[in-house]
Amino acid sequence: MLKEVLRDLADVLFPPRCQSCRTVPEKLINDLFCPACEEKIRYIRTPLCPACGVPFADSEGSDHLCGDCLMAPKPFVVARSVATFDGILLEAIHAFKYHNKTGMGTGLGRMMTGDSYTGMDIQGYTMIMPVPLHIRRLRERGFNQSLLLAKALSEGYAIPLDFLSLRRERDTPPQTTMGRKERQANIKGAFDVADKERVRNQHVLLIDDVYTTGSTLAECTRVLLNSGAAQVGVLTLARAVKDV
Ligand SMILES: [Zn+2]
Ligand SMILES: [Zn+2]
Repeated sequence: MLKEVLRDLADVLFPPRCQSCRTVPEKLINDLFCPACEEKIRYIRTPLCPACGVPFADSEGSDHLCGDCLMAPKPFVVARSVATFDGILLEAIHAFKYHNKTGMGTGLGRMMTGDSYTGMDIQGYTMIMPVPLHIRRLRERGFNQSLLLAKALSEGYAIPLDFLSLRRERDTPPQTTMGRKERQANIKGAFDVADKERVRNQHVLLIDDVYTTGSTLAECTRVLLNSGAAQVGVLTLARAVKDV
């Protein structure tokens, strides 16, 4: 009873605002955005690359492998993302990661749970794993954004969460200004599996906030497969897309 009164009081004093336009709408979608802002999110729909999930600019036509996957197939079986990494979703992810808005993790994770993904059967996975942060980065930021998303997904889909087996052994310089080749070299050997028994024969769903070139996710996948995982799929909240 007291709890409810306090909650109502808090809602009056600090009404939940849209994370983008800061208005107080009648309802917030996923506790994040007002309906008008939510509509601006560009959800990824077909046509897309069935392997890495990149959407194609031309909304006509059917799914087909992208040039990138034709040239160099990815080690993960499939990758999908909720929406493109731009506009209000980009701002929300920046606020979440760099301005300590950890409370947004549940809503952003719910965005990932609420969507459906062509060509990806999430219930077929036996383990959910976030891309780990190096301990130094974790101390700086105070939390691993991918773990918060993975937690929400693990609860939403009732699939066990494992955030200890895959570890980041080596801290690597930020990759934001690097090209694909540089990223691959930068990330090589950065990950390790602490307990190989735990990942053996598992169907691992690897979670990250943003898929950029896929180098980090590919490297994590290689390490998991080398440690005996049966297969690895990738799910990210956002997808960096060059020209759509
Ligand atoms: Zn809004
Ligand atoms: Zn592709």
